[in-house]
Amino acid sequence: MSNVAILGSTGSIGRSTLDVIDASKGELSAVALSAHSNLDQLVAQAARVRPRWVVATDDERVDACDWSKLPSGTELLTGQEGLATVAADPEVDVVVTAIVGAAGLHSTWAAIEAGKRVALANKETLVMAGHLALALAEASGATIIPVDSEHSAVFQALAAGRRDEVRRVILTASGGPFRNLARSQLADVTVKDALDHPTWKMGKKITIDSATMMNKALEIIEARWLFDLDPDQIEVVIHPQSVVHSMVEYVDGSVIAQLSPPDMKLPIQYALSYPHRWECPAALLDLTQSHTLEFEPPDTNKFPAIGLGLEVARSGGSAGAVLNAANESAVAGFINNQIRFDEIIPACRSVLENHNFVAHPTLERIIELDAWAREEVVRWVCA
Ligand code: NAD
Ligand code: MG
Repeated sequence: MSNVAILGSTGSIGRSTLDVIDASKGELSAVALSAHSNLDQLVAQAARVRPRWVVATDDERVDACDWSKLPSGTELLTGQEGLATVAADPEVDVVVTAIVGAAGLHSTWAAIEAGKRVALANKETLVMAGHLALALAEASGATIIPVDSEHSAVFQALAAGRRDEVRRVILTASGGPFRNLARSQLADVTVKDALDHPTWKMGKKITIDSATMMNKALEIIEARWLFDLDPDQIEVVIHPQSVVHSMVEYVDGSVIAQLSPPDMKLPIQYALSYPHRWECPAALLDLTQSHTLEFEPPDTNKFPAIGLGLEVARSGGSAGAVLNAANESAVAGFINNQIRFDEIIPACRSVLENHNFVAHPTLERIIELDAWAREEVVRWVCA
């Protein structure tokens, strides 16, 4: 049996992870859960799964929460230190990093440093500091297995050949809710429109990122580090049905794809069961019914994020951290009605172009640049 720590258990990935553990017939056990602001939900989850630890990260809410329903054997930890403690505890075999954004960096780091199997949902860690994270994993013996559906698909398709036989990796993208809008219409879309994703039910931040296609930009950078690719080997194709989760093309022209209905439970489970496969609580692809699978090139004028993602993947260094922080800040600005939807990517580009590029930044420098980029977006908004 594997002991699983779920960092961010109240989110979309966290809840699906609990479903996978419930269905695992005792192969998996949730020993640690964490939440930021929804502490009542954390207590309810703990009452059900009786973990060894719960971690509450929003200090201001800890005292206001009624912890009396916490099971007697469950210990309450707090803050980033609490997350780092459980991520590194010898009792934990696998850490699912399901915290959203740069807030997930510190605990993902702790899990990698402790040499764990890391089921990586927090792509932001690789976008910010992929070069350092992979070097750390190499040194500690940690195994990073992707949870992101595209990267899980690539990971699976890479089993069909050798790395030096790969020509291209083709990441699929649904195109989000605005695939069929004209570029000029993007100025008027509302937060509600942007949160209405056609195929995936996800947390707010990644849903907005899917609408701007910044999510695909972050995934290009994630793939570049995870699979040690030349960024020019990465392509994006629009596939509105979200059934083909990504593909690998080999030098002989064979294209290997992974297909399944859009449900994160499958890639989450594979990151936990690998190298084995188990029955999964996600629905099966029913090919006795008619299906249409469409593929089209992305409109990079309408969605400039894709070009930006490729540029940042090529630059490396501090560019990923700046892009990620600028985007988080700009998305927050959009959600708070401070900037328009079609200003998110120009704000990111402007901040990226104004930053003093560092080719080999330390983690400390990355964290400083993250703070700087957030402030720059605020300045950009106020200008
Ligand atoms: P979500 O918003 O639904 O959940 C986020 C979780 O993080 C919650 O448990 C929340 O309590 C916690 N959290 C939020 N802010 C925090 C902070 N400051 N400190 C500590 N914890 C905090 O997000 P999600 O959609 O589940 O996404 C989680 C991660 O998985 C993201 O990195 C996302 O890019 C990635 N991912 C998600 C999906 C998906 O289908 N949802 C798919 C691929 C990758
Ligand atoms: Mg994805």
